[in-house]
Amino acid sequence: MFDVDTDRTLVAAADLVNTSAGLRSATPGLDQLTTVTQLKDYLGSRDPGMRWASSGADRTQLEKVQHLREKVQRIWSSTPIESDAPVQVLNELLHGVGLRVARGADGEYRAEPVPASKDLADVMTASIATAIQHLVVRDETVRMRTCKGESCDAVIIDLTRNRSRLFCDFGNCANRAHVRAYRARQAAHRKTFSTAREAAAAAAVHSTRHQGALVDTLDSPRLAKPSAAEKAAQIEVPTSQSARAAKEFRDRMRDELMEKREKKSAKKLKKEKKKVKK
Ligand SMILES: [Zn+2]
Repeated sequence: MFDVDTDRTLVAAADLVNTSAGLRSATPGLDQLTTVTQLKDYLGSRDPGMRWASSGADRTQLEKVQHLREKVQRIWSSTPIESDAPVQVLNELLHGVGLRVARGADGEYRAEPVPASKDLADVMTASIATAIQHLVVRDETVRMRTCKGESCDAVIIDLTRNRSRLFCDFGNCANRAHVRAYRARQAAHRKTFSTAREAAAAAAVHSTRHQGALVDTLDSPRLAKPSAAEKAAQIEVPTSQSARAAKEFRDRMRDELMEKREKKSAKKLKKEKKKVKK
């Protein structure tokens, strides 16, 4: 979404916040960052390009990283950022962080943070603060979200083009939300049916499309099986990384097609207007 460094650092920042104790898909999660081993585990699951060496992990660095996590969490909980308080927290993290221009692995020049020291916590702080700063100045902090799942405190970083990510990767928040939405629609359908039966006009109403789900004709009140639309809705919230990539690609194609169509119809409209003038 942004550059490769910013993207992977934002993912690392979200993962760091998610090591805190809290609900994950309605399941209580313990603090996953209480020992040096856990810190090493966290570092070990980073993208290899991140250069956060786990060899630097010790008790002192662990405590500093815990402080870093707390501050990042505070910023995350105030997104989208519209006031100075979270920015002040960010500026505290940026204190002592420098900037230099260097060639990235792709040969392109890039601004990169210079940490206050080579200590692990300082290196992590410099990267994370710089990545969040990137979002703040571009007014993109809406991408720093909390999972929409019921009873879930997990944070997510939405790196999709159309800002469509709503759920975390823990448990099955997305599926549970879909089941709930489906049941709500079923209930709404049943209600519609009984009200309509009382009304004489009910006979006139046949198949009605409601929120993308095909509501049966009023002759039959059943709506038991998930419809094609329900299944499509499931695909709309992909869980695996490859499925997400595929969805992003589909979304992009759709966006481009819509853009083309809009341009076409705008042109047509112009032509028609000209004709009218003549
Ligand atoms: Zn969740």
